[in-house]
Amino acid sequence: QIQRALRSLTVPLERLHIMKGHMMQDMCKGLSRQMHTEAKVRMLPTYICSTPNGTEKGNFLVVELCQNQVRTLLVTLYGDGNMSPQMMYKIFDLPEGIMQGEGEALFDFIAQCVSQFLAETLSSDTSSSGEHLPLGFVFPFSCRQTQLDKAELLSWSKGFSCSGVVGKDVVQLLQSAINKQEVGGNGTGGHRLSPWRGWKSSQFAPGQLCHVDVVALMNDTVGTMMTCSTEGRTCEVAVVADKGSNCCFMAEAYLVETTAETSGRMCINTEWGCFGDDGTLNDIFTPYDESVDKESSNPGEKRFEKLVGSLYLGEIVRHALIALAAEKAIFTGTNVAVLKEKGVFTTQHVLEIINNEDGTTDVRRVLEVLGLQPSERDCSRVQQICRAVVGRAATLYAAGLAAILSYMCQTREMETLMVNVGVEGELYTGYARFEEILQSVSRLLAPECMATLLPSRDGSGRGAAMVTAVALRLAAQRREVNEVLAPLRLTRADLEKVQALMREEMDRGLCKETNASASVRMLPTYVSHTPDGTERGDFLALDLGGTNFRVLVVHVTEEGISMASEIYVIPAAIMQGTGEGLFDHIIDCIVDFQAKQNLTTQMLPLGFTFSFPCQQVGLDKALLLTWTKGFTASGCVGQDVVQLLREAAQRKQHSGLQVVALVNDTVGTMMACGYDDPKCEIGLIVGTGTNACYMEEMRNVGTVEGDQGRMCINMEWGAFGDNGCLDHIFTHFDRVVDDTTINPGKQRYEKLISGMYLGEIVRQILMVMTEKQLMFQGRPCPKLQTRNIFQTKFLSTIELSNGLALRQIRAILKELELDASFEDSVLMQEVCQTVSLRAAQLCAAGLAAVVEKMRENRGLDQLSVTVGVDGTLYKLHPCFSHNLQKTLKDLAPNCNVSFLLSEDGSGKGAALVAAVANRSA
Ligand code: ADP
Ligand code: MG
Repeated sequence: QIQRALRSLTVPLERLHIMKGHMMQDMCKGLSRQMHTEAKVRMLPTYICSTPNGTEKGNFLVVELCQNQVRTLLVTLYGDGNMSPQMMYKIFDLPEGIMQGEGEALFDFIAQCVSQFLAETLSSDTSSSGEHLPLGFVFPFSCRQTQLDKAELLSWSKGFSCSGVVGKDVVQLLQSAINKQEVGGNGTGGHRLSPWRGWKSSQFAPGQLCHVDVVALMNDTVGTMMTCSTEGRTCEVAVVADKGSNCCFMAEAYLVETTAETSGRMCINTEWGCFGDDGTLNDIFTPYDESVDKESSNPGEKRFEKLVGSLYLGEIVRHALIALAAEKAIFTGTNVAVLKEKGVFTTQHVLEIINNEDGTTDVRRVLEVLGLQPSERDCSRVQQICRAVVGRAATLYAAGLAAILSYMCQTREMETLMVNVGVEGELYTGYARFEEILQSVSRLLAPECMATLLPSRDGSGRGAAMVTAVALRLAAQRREVNEVLAPLRLTRADLEKVQALMREEMDRGLCKETNASASVRMLPTYVSHTPDGTERGDFLALDLGGTNFRVLVVHVTEEGISMASEIYVIPAAIMQGTGEGLFDHIIDCIVDFQAKQNLTTQMLPLGFTFSFPCQQVGLDKALLLTWTKGFTASGCVGQDVVQLLREAAQRKQHSGLQVVALVNDTVGTMMACGYDDPKCEIGLIVGTGTNACYMEEMRNVGTVEGDQGRMCINMEWGAFGDNGCLDHIFTHFDRVVDDTTINPGKQRYEKLISGMYLGEIVRQILMVMTEKQLMFQGRPCPKLQTRNIFQTKFLSTIELSNGLALRQIRAILKELELDASFEDSVLMQEVCQTVSLRAAQLCAAGLAAVVEKMRENRGLDQLSVTVGVDGTLYKLHPCFSHNLQKTLKDLAPNCNVSFLLSEDGSGKGAALVAAVANRSA
């Protein structure tokens, strides 16, 4: 019979595995938006998103409501790694009846404890008078928290049942009670410096009292986790093995669907005591457990807690002994009536019995004190039962912990997880083998996780001070971060202004008289039609001014467009040599290409994509206004580029060249997309630089003769703002970036938007944040001083990372020799998001001006138009295109704008311009 009893109290490993699986399922449920109400493991968000980093300092007050006590604690942190905080505390016993009385009385009592404690501890310390003293409130009951300092009580437990509290914000209740204390009963009104006039004690000196702010509320489990965190050793899990049982851990915030928080992590109070309330633990329950459950104040509830909580272990043993005595397996012939009384056998008794490894002297003593007369055999059997009950509890704790660890490992997408686990409670401190079982069994159940158990030295109080300290540190940091980023955050009004300014500059650029002084050049392209799909023929194309120089042959057929191309290198010596040298080199490349493609006998029309600002005077006549992108070849600026190419052909005696059109890459992009979508009448580039073109009415183009039809205008909008009209948008960071470019003061709009600059802007912000000690804990990072070290493609990677892929951020930062904490990565992500969002919004404001002008031009209520887009930033950045489109919709609600990605637009486009010219000719 004894053996049967012992077997029933043993949970086999396979069963523990199953339990771990159930626990993980319930955890997921608890976090899910749809399912959380059904979950037994409640997974309550705590709004604690960070663990201490050791820089916290100041005075922090804690008040902790416990079983029969109110504990008050004053912790002074020195910012020295939080290794040795100074602590003073005082414990007050709860008066009889208050636990079941009125809520107001309870909170008044707590407030009185606080004021008495302060009066005693601060009487000699006048330094903190008049100061706001932050208070952390440890409130070990289930709450629905919506902020760190906002928590509705869901239900009382642990013998509490004060009226008028359930459903109320307990932070508010405590704060009001404290304010009442402070204001005093004599009706003179509250003044921050006035001492506690209303308080009955008179033992305080004037000026010693502070204004107490309740800034954080937390569960005791969370306090334990925080207590175990010190600098360089964060603790991300806590297990409380006390009268009740609970666990908390740092979860990826984006998985916590019950809150809006999406980046970083948040501590989740699992409230796992209720695990099994849906029956999943029924087969583990022995008849003894069922009897304990039945006799409890909440039968059927907190099933897991009833197997492991020290409130119940003595009871389980008592019921086992009753059953065994009835079966005559134990205490035969003696009176066991004493066992009938609920609570006589405490967990303390159980622990005394089992901690004595050899001999049964203690067992006998305990049993005899209870009034039993055990035989030697009874003693050893009772000891066996006690060991089984407590051992089972430890094993079940291990299964729960394993579920938490595996969940963390999986959701962080790690192969192995190393984590520190804070442990606290009567069972942990009172049962010698608890730690060993917890460690080894959780290892068996979650072999991919390495947990290091840390004993909590000072209970949850110190941790509560830490939470409070961290909350204040984060709030202060948040204010500073917002201050740094504020100038980069644009309001709708800002964007509307940019849109209006762009519109003004467009009009000035189009008008013959004002063109010269406009920052947006609005260059005519002599392209007057977009493709209609009927174009046919074979064409040569050149593409100069992008990342590569290419020569292409393009076949436009009924079946579509096919092409072949070669990339040629233009050596720096040629880019920066003479114009003759450059164009001779280009002819050499064409000759080589024609030979390779067997095109030497044909004279194909040639389209030339030339992505530099040109004053075009005909489709095949374009004066170079200025070189950009590293080109400086002499003797070209002011010259007709097509003529320069023709002259080079003559020098090289290449007679088979028929240059039909010179186009900008924006125009090429528009034309290439126009072939697939006739509504495409805008071209946009967001790559190294940014630019746009669109179809304007000839009557509006003051710089070209004629009023009939339309013409594509190459806006050269990168220079928008060069006349100072965008100065109000530029931030300190933008000015520093501009100053270090080869063309300071030029291409100002482009420098806010395009790939060549975004990484640099981010780098400038990071430098300032480091300086302000908002990042890297203020450690200097020399590598960050290097220009262009922070590439724009990093923004893509960093912003793509949802919570879990933050590791990628850290990998990037490691390359930059930056040792980033988790919080640093989250902040870094925010910086990148801010910069790329602004870029997309500004680009959208420009585009809004364009589409609105086109709508007006055509006298439409609603314009439907397509934008052909090219450029790696637009194509590869995870949010840029979305942000651009969203903002555009907002700024130009009457325009229905689609976006079409151009594939190889500059090559295809040049050929299509040639083809369209052929067609219209
Ligand atoms: P170009 O404008 O010279 O024709 P691209 O359109 O390819 O060339 O744009 C190149 C620019 O795109 C680079 O300056 C770089 O800053 C940016 N870039 C490259 N990769 C990425 C990426 N993954 N995410 C965002 N931007 C990128
Ligand atoms: Mg390009």
